[in-house]
Amino acid sequence: MESNLKEHLKVQKMNIDERMSKIGKKIAIGSGKGGVGKSVVTSLLASYLAKQGKKVGILDLDITGPSIPMMFGIGDKPIGGSSGIMPVVSDSGIKIMSMSLFLPNNEDAVIWRGLRIGGAVSQFLADVVWENIDYLLFDLPPGTSDVQLTLMQNIKLDGFIVVTSPQVLAATIVKKAVSMAEELNVKVLGLVENMAYASCPKCGKKMDVFGNGGKSKLGLSVIGSIPIDPEISRLCDEGKIENYEIDFEKIYQLLENI
Ligand code: ADP
Repeated sequence: MESNLKEHLKVQKMNIDERMSKIGKKIAIGSGKGGVGKSVVTSLLASYLAKQGKKVGILDLDITGPSIPMMFGIGDKPIGGSSGIMPVVSDSGIKIMSMSLFLPNNEDAVIWRGLRIGGAVSQFLADVVWENIDYLLFDLPPGTSDVQLTLMQNIKLDGFIVVTSPQVLAATIVKKAVSMAEELNVKVLGLVENMAYASCPKCGKKMDVFGNGGKSKLGLSVIGSIPIDPEISRLCDEGKIENYEIDFEKIYQLLENI
């Protein structure tokens, strides 16, 4: 029995290595807390990379609240074939795989215990057919959990991007997420601040609502900044997040030069 399990894990690890060898760069996007806009950042970054002509995939591992398919308006179920599970493709060609696509109903709560979550992550890594893509973005659950651990132990990530909003910046939980990546030898690329400012709808003037934009925080440099914008929540609800225009050139250059 035990040797069967060992054999299974060995084969699974070989499959993961084979799948990952076809992917250019593997970048994880994490946050300390939920609801700060991590999935928005993942979606906007994927869309920006796609607009630069890159082939991009997103693996949504945020089992606590998987919103990626909703933001891209994807309702189709993934198709399984002899070579593995095929991701669903968005309007702009982003390959998307999410735990929520396996749920009968998007509102269903997913209550998983640690062991099963870790197992599901490994299975996703081993079975999803990404083929040759330039970037795979991993949307992580908030905080530190078995998902992060399983991911970082199974594959060599090229970088970790931290998402915060100004209100939760000081939270020790953000520091914990950063420390975990560092302990597992994953390079922390920097911080993306969501809801960092607002623009006046009348004159377009940028309002620094929280009065702390642009500085280095938690010892990390700010590599991107996103306004509070009703257009973002509207496009998320309509499943058209790909249509939002954002300047992520700084992050793009950073990623290209890893
Ligand atoms: P997380 O992944 O951190 O849990 P999400 O990215 O799913 O958070 O964001 C939650 C919701 O908050 C989104 O569906 C969107 O409606 C809203 N939201 C996030 N960022 C912004 C923003 N910059 N402006 C307006 N609404 C936002």
